[in-house]
Amino acid sequence: MSKPKVAFFDFASCEGCQLQIANLEEEILDLIQLVDVVSFREVMKEHAETYDIAFIEGSVMRPMDEERIKEIRKHAKILVALGACATIGGVNKIRNQWDVENVKKDVYGDAKIKGNKYFDVFPTKSVDEVVKVDFYIHGCPINRDEFKKVVVSLIMGKTPEIPTYPVCVECKKNENVCLFEQGKFCLGPITRAGCNAICPTNGSPCDGCRGILDKPQVECVQEVLDRYNLTYEDMKNRCIIYNYTKEEC
Ligand code: SF4
Ligand code: SF4
Ligand code: SF4
Repeated sequence: MSKPKVAFFDFASCEGCQLQIANLEEEILDLIQLVDVVSFREVMKEHAETYDIAFIEGSVMRPMDEERIKEIRKHAKILVALGACATIGGVNKIRNQWDVENVKKDVYGDAKIKGNKYFDVFPTKSVDEVVKVDFYIHGCPINRDEFKKVVVSLIMGKTPEIPTYPVCVECKKNENVCLFEQGKFCLGPITRAGCNAICPTNGSPCDGCRGILDKPQVECVQEVLDRYNLTYEDMKNRCIIYNYTKEEC
């Protein structure tokens, strides 16, 4: 049986999610037993136009990105959004609070950028705002183990499981004292789990990098917040780094 051909593509991103995969080191050898990596700019020179599974890192910021990602979608049987920039727009969506033309004026001043397609930007979009996404690997950066699990599921023709419960569940399993008790504000109650609550377990509040739950339990969250004289609106207003537009809250 031939191995599925896999390609990685980057859009607006820090490339940290691809780096997580490159950092699989000797486990890469296991991975290439299962798949044929035909394009991965961060680690190899070769590039092929034919692939079965496309992993997309980064957000869509320009018309030229839109054209490129639509072309990739046409070629790929399965398209996977890789990391917060791709799955939810991530840190790149912070820019959407300002008018793009004013941002360009502030950043580039009088430099001649008009008509240059590289500077022709629009408000940041996550990948699924442009093309159909089949599967998501959340996080900033992604978790390597989760990436491996998703690849194995795809090869076996299964749907990769993504938790539908909040980070608080994992945090409680880790027997942490809630950070609200320490006067810190944590987005764990409304954020999709899957990271084993790594931030609160290490004393830092969750910033929501895995995105807001599809169905946040607003009433339950409000009950928790009541104990600390906080409101759900306060929680939404803390969605600053990864979920700036708060569409899902
Ligand atoms: S999700 Fe985070 S680590 Fe991944 S590319 Fe975007 S900014 Fe970098
Ligand atoms: S709010 Fe944060 S610290 Fe508290 S239980 Fe939930 S994830 Fe843990
Ligand atoms: S705890 Fe929150 S911010 Fe930290 S990795 Fe998990 S989802 Fe991301």
